[in-house]
Amino acid sequence: MNPIQQTDPALWQALCDEQERQESTLELIASENHVSPAVLAAAATPLTNKYAEGYPGKRYYGGCQFVDVVENLARDRAKKLFGCAHVNVQPHSGSQANQAVFLAVLQPGDPILGLHLDHGGHLTHGKSVNLSGKWFQAFHYRVDPKTERIDMAEVRRLAREIKPKLIITGASAYPRIWDFTAFAEIAHEVGAVQMADIAHFAGLVATGLHPSPIPHAEFITTTTHKTLRGPRSGLAMCGAEWAKKLDSAVFPGLQGGPLMHIIAAKAAAFGEALQPEFKVYARQILGNAQALAEELQRRGYRLVSGGTDNHLMLIDLRAKDPNLTGAAVESWLQTAGIIVNKNMIPFDTRKPLETSGIRLGTPALTTRGLREPEMKNVAAWLDRGASSGGQAAALNKIRGEVAEFARQFPLPHLQCRAAGAPGEPIAGERNMAPFSKVPSEA
Ligand SMILES: *Cc1c(COP(=O)(O)O)cnc(C)c1O
Repeated sequence: MNPIQQTDPALWQALCDEQERQESTLELIASENHVSPAVLAAAATPLTNKYAEGYPGKRYYGGCQFVDVVENLARDRAKKLFGCAHVNVQPHSGSQANQAVFLAVLQPGDPILGLHLDHGGHLTHGKSVNLSGKWFQAFHYRVDPKTERIDMAEVRRLAREIKPKLIITGASAYPRIWDFTAFAEIAHEVGAVQMADIAHFAGLVATGLHPSPIPHAEFITTTTHKTLRGPRSGLAMCGAEWAKKLDSAVFPGLQGGPLMHIIAAKAAAFGEALQPEFKVYARQILGNAQALAEELQRRGYRLVSGGTDNHLMLIDLRAKDPNLTGAAVESWLQTAGIIVNKNMIPFDTRKPLETSGIRLGTPALTTRGLREPEMKNVAAWLDRGASSGGQAAALNKIRGEVAEFARQFPLPHLQCRAAGAPGEPIAGERNMAPFSKVPSEA
């Protein structure tokens, strides 16, 4: 029996409900994934008890000899995974990894340049409500209205005009490849430093399926929980020349004690990502995204930029029906057991809480073992849900079909299941895609 079940029934119930929700629905939020049992187990260890301010070998607390081993494993694996000279595995999240870079290279009021939030950028890339927009003078480049791809001529023009100290590349809702080399040329011309925020597609970079920003960007930041399939956390990387500045920005600049249990989970995830099976997984993410994109286009949906090169796509709902909003479709699909998020599309005329688009991604479904043929089922349900007009009967019918289908692709860590031992597939269920065994390093 799980100890929470014995000591805290209210919390246990909520935890079980969430696991049941995850298992019975289809997760298409592009920034989410399902971690392996090893990653989950590492996060639930007594390493959460340990204070370890400082870095391996230079701590401000006693008793750090074993957490040092853990942090060194995480660091060495991340270095190998990305081919980077220096890594810092302590940022608690992607946002904090970005803040660490700001602290390392910027002064308050400095000009910065990043992709506009409404065109796929992230809050931490200079949005007015975010620290990055309040403490720095933020400017934004956009996508070209025709191609819906980043307008490099505008990037160059803005960079020459505003002379940013920092140029931010990377995004949360951009379905195309980033040209880090072209950005580096512009950055060098105007004396800026490039920070490549690869939060969404880090798993694709690690497997060579998206060009690496190394050595073109001085700093690389990422979350560890999206395509990289680790615990909810962050990672910051740089060349040797910036190592000291980056480390002192993370600690003591921004954070106190690192989350050693989460660093252990990062070590586990990086270990898995180094195995050949992870490349197979990453390729399947792309294959599934292509299959889903094609099927949705066949059904009359317009994809921003006409398709996708990565794990995500932005659907412009107006081509299907000018009255459809992202907010309505998100809520209808949730009733149907399909989890997506409403998203602004470039040059959207609707507000952020309404939107004309939804964003879809395949990392989580790919982890569950879905492949190209199943993307057709997913597209069909998406289409039925979006065309339902919100009618309860239609949505409930889809909900039943989705739940039955989803249960054939069990999650690795279900602890609340009525039948079978925790995590054990129920008889007749398909086994989920296996996670890799991480061999000990020599
Ligand atoms: C998700 C994301 C982040 C933020 O990550 P958190 O861990 O939620 O703070 C930063 N940048 C980009 C581009 C992202 O997509």
